[in-house]
Amino acid sequence: MAAAGTSVIPRNRGGGSRVDDTNIVFETSHGVDVIGSFDKMGIRDDLLRGIYQYGFEKPSAIQQRAVLPIINGRDVIAQAQSGTGKTSMIALTVCQMIDTSSREVQALIVSPTRELAMQTEKVILAIGNYINVQAHACVGGKSIGEDIRKLEHGVHVVSGTPGRVCDMIKRRTLRTRAIKLLVLDESDEMLSKGFKDQIYDVYRYLPPELQVCLISATLPHEILEMTSKFMTDPVRILVKRDELTLEGIKQFFVAVEKEEWKFDTLCDLYDTLTITQAVIFCNTKRKVDWLTEKMRSNNFTVSSMHGDMPQKERDAIMAEFKSGATRVLITTDVWARGLDVQQVSLVINYDLPNNRELYIHRIGRSGRFGRKGVAINFVRSDDIRILRDIEQYYSTQIDEMPMNVADLI
Ligand code: ADP
Ligand code: MG
Repeated sequence: MAAAGTSVIPRNRGGGSRVDDTNIVFETSHGVDVIGSFDKMGIRDDLLRGIYQYGFEKPSAIQQRAVLPIINGRDVIAQAQSGTGKTSMIALTVCQMIDTSSREVQALIVSPTRELAMQTEKVILAIGNYINVQAHACVGGKSIGEDIRKLEHGVHVVSGTPGRVCDMIKRRTLRTRAIKLLVLDESDEMLSKGFKDQIYDVYRYLPPELQVCLISATLPHEILEMTSKFMTDPVRILVKRDELTLEGIKQFFVAVEKEEWKFDTLCDLYDTLTITQAVIFCNTKRKVDWLTEKMRSNNFTVSSMHGDMPQKERDAIMAEFKSGATRVLITTDVWARGLDVQQVSLVINYDLPNNRELYIHRIGRSGRFGRKGVAINFVRSDDIRILRDIEQYYSTQIDEMPMNVADLI
């Protein structure tokens, strides 16, 4: 690993509702250039056209730093705040590196949830429209027959979840011999206890000269430590912990004292929830079901999603929420990472998350790409300690919710 230097860009707290993310401080390996325009990255013309047509004008801070090392074939560990264009960067770099004259899978992206893997597939297909990229989302809960049909027809990129990807590899339907690049989005989650064995299982089937990229907003120390096992001299682009919360997302708490008081607090906030769109997090599927029922029986319109629902239903709920047809979504941590609905401006932690990383990911469902966001934490008396820990850990500020919170959305 190259010695880490620090590049410091002056803070700019300029006005306007969009927060420019170029005021972030990164700890980067030596020799990482900052490239302020997509034109200057050596991206092929037909891909550039797709990027601009998709609405991207200028690369974000992480894109300015990490796109080039990735397309130059380096192993890269890239961290940046939620909503600053990391997953989009995966999509565009993957499009740049594939050879569309071949029909073999050349890039494999693995994500922790089906919805995220499908979202990434869609971004690849959109940005890569003019290069005729063939991408396929290979995820659980979908027809295996359809996977086989797609993969045998030939695709350049697979964006999947670990279980189904592993399955397809073992059936030899997903052929790995031409795979040059493995990307783990939400990589700290992919390398955590629940997924690690499956990821190593996939890794064993990939060619030895593989390029590996790890992407996440949170990369705890223990994750960085294990990267030497499967990465070669990686370029590191990291954000310090105290720079990880976004200025555009205001964080508040409501002291509810007892669990029983959370429900009334939520009902009082309902009009605020529907100003744009809101996501409400509970810690268990059962609680999501319970809260959804209780809201509905009190005549509030809400939708809900969790991992025990059939995939068809999950897909329908996602589609409705993305289109704005539904405005309030009650969910579990299946929704904590990566999902991008630009209109979400409010996140409620009905329950505080079980770890510090999840807090960052959950509140990051709002305030996408510099938009304004508000996060409201319901804290029982015995939760205050946890909230203070989060506040300290990220050197951030979580104030008591003001009366005029609706004005901040
Ligand atoms: P992350 O993975 O860092 O959370 P995403 O890649 O999901 O971020 O991007 C967040 C939002 O910002 C998406 O709606 C995406 O389309 C948009 N976005 C990403 N990069 C750019 C860019 N360079 N210019 C404008 N919008 C962008
Ligand atoms: Mg992402």
